[in-house]
Amino acid sequence: MAMPWQLAQAHRPKRGQSKRPIVELLPAVKITDIAIPSLYDHKTYILRNVSLKYPFLASLSFSNTCVEFQLPSLHRNQENPTQSFNLKRFKVGFGIRSAFLCTCGRPTYALYYLNRHIACRRCCNARHAIQTVNQHNRPILQASRIASFLDGKSRIFRRTRERLQKRLGEKLMTAQGKLGTDARRLWD
Ligand SMILES: [Zn+2]
Repeated sequence: MAMPWQLAQAHRPKRGQSKRPIVELLPAVKITDIAIPSLYDHKTYILRNVSLKYPFLASLSFSNTCVEFQLPSLHRNQENPTQSFNLKRFKVGFGIRSAFLCTCGRPTYALYYLNRHIACRRCCNARHAIQTVNQHNRPILQASRIASFLDGKSRIFRRTRERLQKRLGEKLMTAQGKLGTDARRLWD
């Protein structure tokens, strides 16, 4: 398929030359890692030893409307820089789900740490790992992800496991096929 002219004329780095950070490699705080209090609980909770899990944080406090991150200060006589994010609630099938509200106004389930600043994926200008690989390597990445998911989860439905194992086989076949065509091209 011919490349669309917009893409051909776009000012963008060649594949593999981009300096944008990769989402999966950035330290992240997920909303599911924080036990957000219910709407009727008006207390504020503080996690003091949070740096054991998130080395880039000094402390983390949260209430049912807001999450506040404190970064460690770089100088002894300086207060810890603080960033706070409001929460947004969504109604889902059985209950309510929370999301961080980034300063750009987008709700997000994960916030990322980049250059001593916490923000959503789009504010970090980060891209997903799947966007960085070409069509030959993509099935390899997908297969390794399915394999690590199956290894990491012991309690999943039998049918889900079977379906994923089938897909893993397909991805491995595709990856092998792509590698095969590459090898043949070398020898021709
Ligand atoms: Zn943002």
